[in-house]
Amino acid sequence: MSAGFLTDPLLMEWEVEHGFGLRGSSEPEGLARPRQVHGIAVARADAQGEVQPSEADAVWTDAPGRAVGVLTADCVPILMGVRGGVRVAAVHAGWKGLAHGVIAAGLSALRGSANEAVRAAIGPHVGPCCYEVDAPVLGPLRKRFGADLEVALVPAGPDHARVDLGALARWALESAGLPPHAIGTEAVDCTRCDADRFHSYRRDGARAGRLLHFVRAGNRPEAALDSPQGPA
Ligand SMILES: [Zn+2]
Repeated sequence: MSAGFLTDPLLMEWEVEHGFGLRGSSEPEGLARPRQVHGIAVARADAQGEVQPSEADAVWTDAPGRAVGVLTADCVPILMGVRGGVRVAAVHAGWKGLAHGVIAAGLSALRGSANEAVRAAIGPHVGPCCYEVDAPVLGPLRKRFGADLEVALVPAGPDHARVDLGALARWALESAGLPPHAIGTEAVDCTRCDADRFHSYRRDGARAGRLLHFVRAGNRPEAALDSPQGPA
């Protein structure tokens, strides 16, 4: 299943097909992606692969067999699903997305009104070892995370700090109601430190490639009953 990608055991256990991309990972079949704009809009991908709205930083689908994905080059990718992958979502969260609540937005779209149990996995991103920011970034983050921001910071001089974006992603998932045991971090690694495996904007600048992360909706048995053609 999904060679050339990192996977998280929590999602595997729930039979949610997914992968966090490495350098050279090939694009999975049937992938639908929004145009990312560092916002908090959530798109839905339908059975035809149409993404609405086309600009978004989170995307979900319940179309059997359809894969949705996001690109990153240091930002945090989060892949989520309900058991069996009946509904799945991919989220791209940089500091702006984190500050504006893209993770909570993606999670709420995925849960829908049924408020089903969800598991989420956090993927490779620029680690606190390599991500130093200053006041223009710290200000908006502090607004969102309040005093809790401090646990994700290592001070690095006046108005400078190194930030653990993955810890903020975990905070966002937990404060949206995910229990800690439903959040996987097995695929977390620093994109900037590991040039062999990852693209990194902080390391490679404008010429940096992008990592592709995806999650695929499962083929559920009811789909065969719904449609005369059977599951797509
Ligand atoms: Zn690093």
